[in-house]
Amino acid sequence: MSFQAQKTFFIETFGCQMNFHDSEKVAGSLVSQGYRQVEAAEDADLILYNTCSIRDKAEQKVFHRLADFKRLQKEGKKFAVIGCVAQQEGERIFERAPHVSLVAGSSSYRSLPQLLVQIEQGERATGLNDRETSQTFETEFTARTNPHRGYITIIEGCDKFCAYCVVPYTRGRERSRTSQSVLEEARRIADSGLTEIQLLGQNVNSYCDPLSRASFAELLAEVGQVPGIRRVRFTTSHPRHFTRDIVEAIDTVPSLCDHVHLPVQSGSSQVLQAMQREYTREQYLERIAWIRAARHRSIAITTDIIVGFPGETESDFEQTMALLDEVQFDGIFSFKYSPRPNTPALAMENAIPEEEKTARLAALNEKQREIQRPNYARHVGEILEAMVEGYHPARGQVAGRSSQNKPVNFTVPEGSPPPVPGSYVPVRVTRAFPNSLVGELATDGGVEPGKRLAEAPGPCSRI
Ligand code: SAM
Ligand code: SF4
Repeated sequence: MSFQAQKTFFIETFGCQMNFHDSEKVAGSLVSQGYRQVEAAEDADLILYNTCSIRDKAEQKVFHRLADFKRLQKEGKKFAVIGCVAQQEGERIFERAPHVSLVAGSSSYRSLPQLLVQIEQGERATGLNDRETSQTFETEFTARTNPHRGYITIIEGCDKFCAYCVVPYTRGRERSRTSQSVLEEARRIADSGLTEIQLLGQNVNSYCDPLSRASFAELLAEVGQVPGIRRVRFTTSHPRHFTRDIVEAIDTVPSLCDHVHLPVQSGSSQVLQAMQREYTREQYLERIAWIRAARHRSIAITTDIIVGFPGETESDFEQTMALLDEVQFDGIFSFKYSPRPNTPALAMENAIPEEEKTARLAALNEKQREIQRPNYARHVGEILEAMVEGYHPARGQVAGRSSQNKPVNFTVPEGSPPPVPGSYVPVRVTRAFPNSLVGELATDGGVEPGKRLAEAPGPCSRI
């Protein structure tokens, strides 16, 4: 690595939003150590891969990437594998990819400055032993890459040990940050001009302030009242710990978005039990009823579903299909069960053949597509508040997002400039697809998120 000029790094991220936000914090930490971020691996002294091992496919990606860029080692570049694959595979990564210098799991990111010194001295470094820590990874500087939304980790790790999932093994035990530090970060985000915040954790509902014992619902309501913040989202909720006061908070604090992501995984109580999810189909539906009972809001509900978990019978799968009909989700993320190292499900009998998993996934997605058609179509005629995310000149369309987290693509009157990214505008919805809404800038007034024009209190900010 050449250290005459300023040291540079390139980071590529795989996987979930937690990983993307970890990369923002890792980048901040590297910048505070004198590194400069670059956009291409070829231009960097240090190349980092922040990895995901939730499914086998995600895990394999990083090894392909390491093979593709091995040639750059000749130029003196250093390689680092961080995140879940690093934690899971540990020093085996050095055997499989000897050009790697640093392997570190997410619980060790606080030690990055020391680990960097080691690799700068030409040594190999590992950060793999901190999973029992009670500390969280907070940095003075976070290199935020999303121009509109500031992410805040409120709880790290996971103690749930679902039978199929690697996360408790790769991210360590659950540890919450203090509400004070979360609120300080929220205020810094607002001061930097961002107006949307997303609170992150593998199981945000387990949040508990280590000092004041404040709950997730209390924290959520407080973040929603930070001056300058117009939208607050959160992910992911676990049904076992999802409480009514979260719905009450959404119902009363206007900046909290009309959206809950509540992964169900299966519609069969037998499968849920085998998955060690700690709730039944009936208890899940009870939570859905709480969300639907919100008095002032129409709250969108999305979920995650795994098909082909070991032992999932045709009848279990039919119950998942029936659950889709019953709940009418606004969106789903669906996955074929992927056997993962260290997890109890690996030893379970009655594995479902790959073709059967593929067929179930296709049937599930087809059903959900049919459910989303009317779900999205019911917005036609409404005026929704959209946060502007970008502009597609070729299509002449502005890309935005509703409070319910639905993509809203819209046109502006001829001759008018597109509204600036990050602004909030009212959009009249004129057409709907199963995954997006289409409309035009409404010039006759704005609305509270999720409300129809007739209830609109006043104009939204726009240019
Ligand atoms: N903590 C969250 C929860 O409890 O729902 C989500 C964690 S995980 C990053 C996101 C989703 O990946 C899970 O909800 C689950 O549907 C899916 N997933 C996790 N492990 C999986 C596996 N072994 N095979 C297939 N999908 C899996
Ligand atoms: Fe994995 Fe379950 Fe924890 Fe979610 S709650 S991260 S699925 S173990």
